Amino acid sequence: MQLDTLWNFMQVDMEADKFEAKMRQSENRQKLIKARDFLKDQQANMKKLENDVAVMQDRLEAVEDEAARLEKVLDGLTEEFNNNVPANAEDAQKQADAVQKLLDTLQRYEAELTKMRKDADTKDRQQKEIRVRAAKTKIEFDQLKLEYDKEFKADTAKLQEMRANTEQEAKKVDMALLAKYRSIKQHCTPPMARLVNGQCSGCFMSLPSATLLDIRNGDRIVECDNCGRILYDAGE
Ligand SMILES: [Zn+2]
Repeated sequence: MQLDTLWNFMQVDMEADKFEAKMRQSENRQKLIKARDFLKDQQANMKKLENDVAVMQDRLEAVEDEAARLEKVLDGLTEEFNNNVPANAEDAQKQADAVQKLLDTLQRYEAELTKMRKDADTKDRQQKEIRVRAAKTKIEFDQLKLEYDKEFKADTAKLQEMRANTEQEAKKVDMALLAKYRSIKQHCTPPMARLVNGQCSGCFMSLPSATLLDIRNGDRIVECDNCGRILYDAGE
């Protein structure tokens, strides 16, 4: 008799638990989490790109400055060459070598600058793509959030109603028994199992005849030796 009320209580309790679990697995909720994670990833990507571009910009400016400085040196050498014609072939060669060396360096810088400008363009394009993608996802996210908030509000009201109903059912159950139920539920749910053909229907273990006898006598609450559930004999 006591176990009958506990069994009835368990039905509404389990139903409420199931509903709460379903709420957590809601499709809109999953989509929302996915969209939020995607936005977070895009923000991280964006930050990395911005850092890369800043580093690249510094390097670009440094190389441009150095190239400008070398241009001036080159101008100076050329002017000197024009004003003071070298005294001999050896001096002429030395001056020509110095000019050539500068020209080589400048060419190398020019190549590096071209490559860096190209990289900067690529990163710029990537940033634009991410921005567009993130903006699109943000719109979807906001729309989804509206829907989900509505759904969540309705579901929460329903769950509250179910929990209130559960509380009502709980009042019919003996307090010590209810405490036992809740303690079992911490590690095993549902916390009660029917006795079917001498087996616990929670874990399917066959119960010893002494246990079966205890259940039949109904003197005390009997738990399954294997899974710990309260055994319930609905009367086979
Ligand atoms: Zn069991």
